[in-house]
Amino acid sequence: MSLIVQKFGGSSVANAERVFNVAGIVTRTYDKGNDVVVVVSAQGDTTDDLIAKGNEINPNASKRERDMLVAAGEQVSIALLAMAIEKLGYPVVSLLGWQAGFQTSSAHTAARIRRVVPSRIRKELDKKRIVIVAGFQGLSRYDDITTLGRGGSDTSAVAIAAAMHADLCQIYTDVEGVYTADPRIVKNAKKLESISYDEMLELATMGAQVLNNRSVEMAKKYNIELEVLSSLVDAPGTIVKEKSKMEKMLISGVAKDTDVARVSVIGIPDEPGFAFKLFSKLSAKNINVDIILQSIGRDGTKDISFTCAADRLDDVNAALKDYIENIGAKEILSSTDVAKISIVGAGMESHAGVATKMFEALYDAQINIRMIATSEIKVSVLINKKDADRAVSAIHDKFFEQ
Ligand code: ADP
Ligand code: ASP
Ligand code: MG
Repeated sequence: MSLIVQKFGGSSVANAERVFNVAGIVTRTYDKGNDVVVVVSAQGDTTDDLIAKGNEINPNASKRERDMLVAAGEQVSIALLAMAIEKLGYPVVSLLGWQAGFQTSSAHTAARIRRVVPSRIRKELDKKRIVIVAGFQGLSRYDDITTLGRGGSDTSAVAIAAAMHADLCQIYTDVEGVYTADPRIVKNAKKLESISYDEMLELATMGAQVLNNRSVEMAKKYNIELEVLSSLVDAPGTIVKEKSKMEKMLISGVAKDTDVARVSVIGIPDEPGFAFKLFSKLSAKNINVDIILQSIGRDGTKDISFTCAADRLDDVNAALKDYIENIGAKEILSSTDVAKISIVGAGMESHAGVATKMFEALYDAQINIRMIATSEIKVSVLINKKDADRAVSAIHDKFFEQ
């Protein structure tokens, strides 16, 4: 007998028919003699709809109340799935995040899981029940409901798998696995048989939303093998694990992130310490920056540009306001009309010319590059948002179709 954690995303439980489809997958796993813990997300676009409803009432509502609102989405789907499983004649119980033992930080809307204490889940499994857990949510030490950030149910599933030493953690979604690019953008994208944690982490961080990056980080930390597969098509998915066979491939995928902003601080004195002061203002506000570019100094001044998440742009402007005033930099320019396209692959470490090939694909497609960043297993470029999908296809074709 094994302990299996299965996670189903919003589209997998979007309507009654889909809920029964999931109930079928879960009960078939149970019938094979396994203990089954199921993590579900809110149905379809429920989370977006709840956020919109909240904004209608008060766009400046506290994060605590926003968490209280969106956590309701998962409460609906766990109950519906449990009802479907009851109807099929199986013993089942649904649990909210706090009932399942999810203890988190108190950073509302972006809480981190501190601990999962799965005593209640264990008790229910001992009674031979299928356990359905609400993803995305937990409880702070002040006994307030928290949520983990968008896409957080993946992390809920991996956290349970780690806390309970599960034998298998399956992430069911609406595509058949992890592909060389988003299969909705690139029709000839290929399904990967396996991918390493490090590559998957980069892909997820660079915008491949098929897995939440924190879930991959946690899977790597606790060495939990993940299987990403479709809830609608019965086919083997993609295995995410420490070492993968795919390492011989030059790159394992192309990712797109359109939720980015580019910020340029113009006319900074060209002297030591100014970059430090600028970025310490940002880190004090927990703002992550990604690509950083500094211009060559001219007439005693320089410009520094960087990218950050688009939804942090207001925070950036607020954090840098007095920097501009005190230091006498000229101005801050910003744009959200940009997209970041990245290629990821462990193979590029030992191969020259990978970045060149990417740039050539963009040149062939006449797409202008605005910023570039590289790491050991990744190359990212910033381009105009309108070119994003075309760039993904052009780069993908260059690496996978030639
Ligand atoms: P869920 O609701 O199951 O959590 P998501 O919408 O969060 O599903 O993630 C699945 C989606 O991720 C797919 O529908 C696909 O469009 C997108 N995606 C982006 N990049 C990739 C990739 N490299 N491989 C597979 N899917 C990808
Ligand atoms: N329902 C949440 C969201 O839409 C969590 C998830 O789907 O993983 O972000
Ligand atoms: Mg998701």
